[in-house]
Amino acid sequence: MPTLLVAFIVISTVWTALSLWLSARQIACVRRHRDAVPADFAASVTIEEHRKAADYTVARERLAGVRTVWDLLVSLAWVLGGINLLYGALASILAPSLGLGVLFLLATFAIGAVLSLPLDIWRTFVVEQAFGFNRTTPLMFVLDKVKGWAIALAISVPLLFACLWAMRAFVGLWWLWTWFGVIALMFAAPTIYVRLIAPQFNKFTPLQDGEPRARIETLLRRCGFRASGLFSMDASRRSAHGNAFFIGFGKTKRVVLFDTLIAASTPDEIEAVVAHELGHDRHGHVLFGLLRGAVIALAVLAAFGWLSKQAWLLPSFGIAYRDDALALLACLLLFGLVGPVLAPFGNWISRRNEFQADDYARRQVAAGPMISALLRLSRDNASTLTPDPVYALVHYSHPPVPIRIRHLHEAEPKVMHEAESKESHA
Ligand SMILES: [Zn+2]
Repeated sequence: MPTLLVAFIVISTVWTALSLWLSARQIACVRRHRDAVPADFAASVTIEEHRKAADYTVARERLAGVRTVWDLLVSLAWVLGGINLLYGALASILAPSLGLGVLFLLATFAIGAVLSLPLDIWRTFVVEQAFGFNRTTPLMFVLDKVKGWAIALAISVPLLFACLWAMRAFVGLWWLWTWFGVIALMFAAPTIYVRLIAPQFNKFTPLQDGEPRARIETLLRRCGFRASGLFSMDASRRSAHGNAFFIGFGKTKRVVLFDTLIAASTPDEIEAVVAHELGHDRHGHVLFGLLRGAVIALAVLAAFGWLSKQAWLLPSFGIAYRDDALALLACLLLFGLVGPVLAPFGNWISRRNEFQADDYARRQVAAGPMISALLRLSRDNASTLTPDPVYALVHYSHPPVPIRIRHLHEAEPKVMHEAESKESHA
């Protein structure tokens, strides 16, 4: 068997085994603590809520485990004959051309999307449904998928044509030209998403008048953020989960609050959540994230540039044909082996950003409302309060809520006593 192919199979299998081991740790840890609310939360979380969070975490983790194994089987099917079969079939109809390359890559992505469909259905209509979070109807699910695929097609067709054309036209430096394209797309992405993509799925309305609005406007003025960038999103159409996010830079900057979060929170908590999102802006997290992405893309594309021109690449993957599209796919498959190494670093930076944004919110509105907002979010979303520390270190993009709350307490010890006495009265 060709060497690179053997290495690919071995490393993919090792990553899958490690991922399953982490999942097993998470499930065991959550189950171990299922019947006792952690002491710090005894006053604010009921045993029923705690058990629901544990069961929901376990159900999602089991599904994630099935997905991991499924993904391994699919990628093994590709490298152990699927690629040759698909390319051979397409090459028997079409002459070698850019069009053949683009069609081949689109076909592999499409087959991947169709193969992951059963797990998406299971997630939405079995797991989310069982815990009372799902509000998507089968019709809405189908429409969402069709829209999502149409958008993916509209973006990827010109991109793949441009990339494969650059591989021919610029030979040695195609990756640098592709990088320029990727950079342009990365900086345009928030605007494209906000103006063209997101409105296909949700309605965004400026936050309505009322107490939260007035208080938030004062907060926005104090933080030097324009009030027109504050939106409510009708997330309740699909799911009961509450959330908020910050997106864009320059003119497209906006803070988006899910209507589910607004409905469930007090004005104090909404103000704290907005302050947290503004913290992401004030600390330049979006811009730094883009710059980091640009540097990683440059490194990855430079590696692709070198790899794709190596005569041994395709034969050592057991691929019987020659085409830049095949070289690109081989590069993407190899990059998939590096992903599990990069992801924990990304999550580590993201967790650090969350602490900074929490701290910004604490300075703007005090620790009490931020703690109360975090408690509410984790309770309403059935997030576990007792994750496995190793699992959290690798997979969590946000620090576990108990640790965020502890940080807020430590930064403002006075508030802890106030919050605690309030909780004991409640
Ligand atoms: Zn955040």
